[in-house]
Amino acid sequence: MNREPDMLRGIGMTSQRTRARLIERLVEQGISNFRVLACFETIPRHLFVDEALGHKAYEDVSLPIGYAQTLSQPYIVARMSELVLAAPHHERVLEIGTGSGFQTSVLASLVDEVYSVERIQPLQEKARQRLAILNLKNVWLKLADGFMGWPDEAPFDVIIGTAAPSVPPPELLDQLIPDGGRLIMPIGETEQFLTVIEKHGDELIIEQIEPVLFVPMLTGIKAK
Ligand code: SAH
Repeated sequence: MNREPDMLRGIGMTSQRTRARLIERLVEQGISNFRVLACFETIPRHLFVDEALGHKAYEDVSLPIGYAQTLSQPYIVARMSELVLAAPHHERVLEIGTGSGFQTSVLASLVDEVYSVERIQPLQEKARQRLAILNLKNVWLKLADGFMGWPDEAPFDVIIGTAAPSVPPPELLDQLIPDGGRLIMPIGETEQFLTVIEKHGDELIIEQIEPVLFVPMLTGIKAK
């Protein structure tokens, strides 16, 4: 007997078949890491959006999560997760922009420790509740301005950002390990590129992956 609660398993459009179709689509788009693909099978994306949008949770689209923010499209979450796993080290990861918590959950099943900061308090609280439902024990959340990173927990092997600054934030580069630390985030104002910056001592190796469209990274925190 399947004892998984209905809430996690999902019904109708959130069924296993719809999830399988999404995974096929991700493979067609070039996602090949088996562990990343498996996350879309096991993590209930419908939990991360309002119930009214649940039927769209397994389509390859971004979805609104309130406060003018969006849960990224599955392809982007998968692509960024592959870039995390391809980093020379990826045990300790800092995420900027918890948002719904979906990317956070994906990371939690791929790496040892996930630290995630969010500047909008109500979004962070909802994400915290969802992560508790999934019983994730290797995630730490903080309400903070991600431009500052998380100095007390630095250095990180990887820092991943899900909102776009116009230039790479210097504090984030400082908080990477010196031997192959990776910053993975959208960068740019009118035109954004998903960018990987790898730190090797004083040298930064910068690679633009592909054009993307993320919400802008904003300063300060927005408490309730
Ligand atoms: N990864 C999220 C995507 C959320 S959209 C998800 O899977 O749902 C980007 C998020 O970045 C928003 O929640 C936004 O509030 C947050 N954000 C923007 N600027 C930030 C900053 N300076 N510090 C922390 N979070 C920030």
